[in-house]
Amino acid sequence: MNIQSIEVSVEKLPLIKPFKTALRTADEIENVIVMLRLENGIIGMGAAAPTVAITGDSTEGIKGIIQSVITPQLLGKSITQLNQLSKIVQQSCVGNTSAKAAVEIAIYDTLCKFWNIPLYQFLGGKTNQLMNDMTISIGEEEKMVTEAKQIVNNGFSIIKIKAGKDWKKDIERISAIREAVGNNVTLRVDANQGWDVKHSIEVIREWEKDRLNIELVEQPVRAHNITGLKEIKRNVQTPIMADESLFSPRDAMKLLSEQAVDYLNIKLMKTGGIRRALQIADMAEVAEIECMIGSMMESSVSVAAAVHLAIAHPNITKIDLDAPLWIKAEPFEGIIYEENTIQVSGDSGLGVKRKR
Ligand SMILES: [Mg+2]
Repeated sequence: MNIQSIEVSVEKLPLIKPFKTALRTADEIENVIVMLRLENGIIGMGAAAPTVAITGDSTEGIKGIIQSVITPQLLGKSITQLNQLSKIVQQSCVGNTSAKAAVEIAIYDTLCKFWNIPLYQFLGGKTNQLMNDMTISIGEEEKMVTEAKQIVNNGFSIIKIKAGKDWKKDIERISAIREAVGNNVTLRVDANQGWDVKHSIEVIREWEKDRLNIELVEQPVRAHNITGLKEIKRNVQTPIMADESLFSPRDAMKLLSEQAVDYLNIKLMKTGGIRRALQIADMAEVAEIECMIGSMMESSVSVAAAVHLAIAHPNITKIDLDAPLWIKAEPFEGIIYEENTIQVSGDSGLGVKRKR
């Protein structure tokens, strides 16, 4: 069954509260939605989140590359040649991983609808619920502590805390949060490239000295600084995770062979879609390095793809997929969030549809 058309539209999505990291602040996000149609009328969906500060991909850039470069290479091709289609998408241009992810997710969704099977089953998955975390933006200590308490009251047992703007304040803020929520809550910290090597070691050692029991520290230094990650890992007990340092399977190969980090954070907007995410998770499994799956500020369409992947892959053991919970009026349904758990709808493909 051949691909008849691929259409692109832009969705503006206001957030419940501003999302603040060391790299950016967002009050509203945009997602690019891809609708892929087969000759028999089956329609699959994909989506991309522009993050100029991370991937370099803008809304207009994503739209343009899909319409003028990727789509012409896919029209008329059979949907059942999945890996070949994925290869065409990945080789269509350099970079543009968000655009590639949107199209590739739509291809997987469409094929699974064609076979009438949920994506996680197609990927060889089980039916377990996932345990999600909730993120706290960078802010003043008091505000972050209040939010942490609210998150625990809302049923979460894992909190991801944004840091990296001011290393001295980070030491105090995370200590205050630990004191407020007690020892039964898992705390993970994301510095979003905001520290240097020296301060990373200093901050993490301080938390270790005070027995804060931080689960992991994500991307303490700049994305390109692999030797820096390695040096931090060698000098602290707390596990270190690569996020912005990891886009492609090739990046994963380098991080793994250099033993630079303890965990990898996979995001579909960085990998360019599902197939390369699978390749990274597989490679990491061979290297005995577990993976987290995260997302940008994305709607349920592309986050659903990440959920299916996480359900299916035994080496994806940590879940950071709270983005749809930040959207004021989520236009799509299909991911079932209940307190700290995530499930998918069980319908074929992503199981996601537009709300009526
Ligand atoms: Mg991160």
